Amino acid sequence: MSSKQKTYYIHTFGCQSNKSDSERIAGDYEARGYSEAKAWQDCDELVINTCAIRKRAEDKVLGLVQNILKHFRESDKPRPKLILTGCMTHHANERLYELLPDIDEILPINEVGFNQAAVRKDKKHAWIPISVGCNSYCTYCIVPYSRGREKSRDEADIMNEVQRLVDQGYNEITLLGMNVNSWGLEKVGVPMRKMMMEDDNFTREDLPDNQTQYLTSTDTPPFVRLLQNITKFDQIIKIRFMSSNPWDFHDELIEEIGNNKKIDRYVHLPIQSGSNDVLYRMNRGYTVEKYLAVVNKLRALDSDVVIGTDIIVGFPGETNEEFNETVELAKKIDWKVGFVAIYSPRPGTASWRLYKEDEIPHKIKKKRWEILDKIINKDNMSDRPKVI
Ligand code: SF4
Repeated sequence: MSSKQKTYYIHTFGCQSNKSDSERIAGDYEARGYSEAKAWQDCDELVINTCAIRKRAEDKVLGLVQNILKHFRESDKPRPKLILTGCMTHHANERLYELLPDIDEILPINEVGFNQAAVRKDKKHAWIPISVGCNSYCTYCIVPYSRGREKSRDEADIMNEVQRLVDQGYNEITLLGMNVNSWGLEKVGVPMRKMMMEDDNFTREDLPDNQTQYLTSTDTPPFVRLLQNITKFDQIIKIRFMSSNPWDFHDELIEEIGNNKKIDRYVHLPIQSGSNDVLYRMNRGYTVEKYLAVVNKLRALDSDVVIGTDIIVGFPGETNEEFNETVELAKKIDWKVGFVAIYSPRPGTASWRLYKEDEIPHKIKKKRWEILDKIINKDNMSDRPKVI
């Protein structure tokens, strides 16, 4: 007598990396004979892939778990097994079980293997993770603590996945990583969390400056070589990548984008602020002048290249003058699209630790968001502020 096939459901919060991880978690379930349930109310195992970019993101997870528990308290069906993964696993397990005592299992995000075949909904375009983690320490960001040190995926694994995708009829891919530009390099890695969390006298000067991950001089950056190798597949017609860090945006990568028309003409290059002083407080590892040099080189090579960016307004201590520098830069650069986010303090980050006293009132942050969003996104693609 055959037993009923077990089912899973994955609820994904947050960024594209999480969505890509969820495709692989689904692959793992299907390899074990599970099928996807249509709704979380009907599954045997429910995975919650969490985002921890800000406190509100974690509150949403807590809210979802409360809803799930309430639903099953009032239902005659047994509650599914609850599995938590994603960026919230940066909390120690004890803390997670304190926050969410009903969770049955915690799956550390780094246990979601690169090579697990993904279950993809899209049949033409595929996301391919090429690295995990981040070796930088932007002060507002939780990723270095939630996803750990940067690690590149083997080239052979990536190429095998591209081959499989081509065989299945895919013709567009997006290479994913927190810093795709430094893929394949021997990395600079400085463990930081302990020092920041345990030393009450920790200052911005104690934070290692974000720096290029190019430890050794190489002929051609490995990421450029990877792009060239993927380009050789005739069936692949479009290659995109994200995210790019300006401090690792090598000249040879700029030339490759200029010459290789399979690479999308849209380049997303986060600036975060147009003020060098704010960039220092954010520990972004470049100046406005260096950022401009990259943009100018890209545009000089191909006038069809369009640039988009991410900006945070209301970073602690941001003066009117510093904000106006961002406004002036926006007018000068003319980004095609800008994801403008309102800063909010995120427990566990360096900026939360260092700049508690320098919070900007929400009213001012909101006003700044409106001004900048209007300048950059003239056609009003986004209609409400995103909070980071
Ligand atoms: S580069 Fe900065 S913003 Fe991006 S993931 Fe790393 S620490 Fe966060």
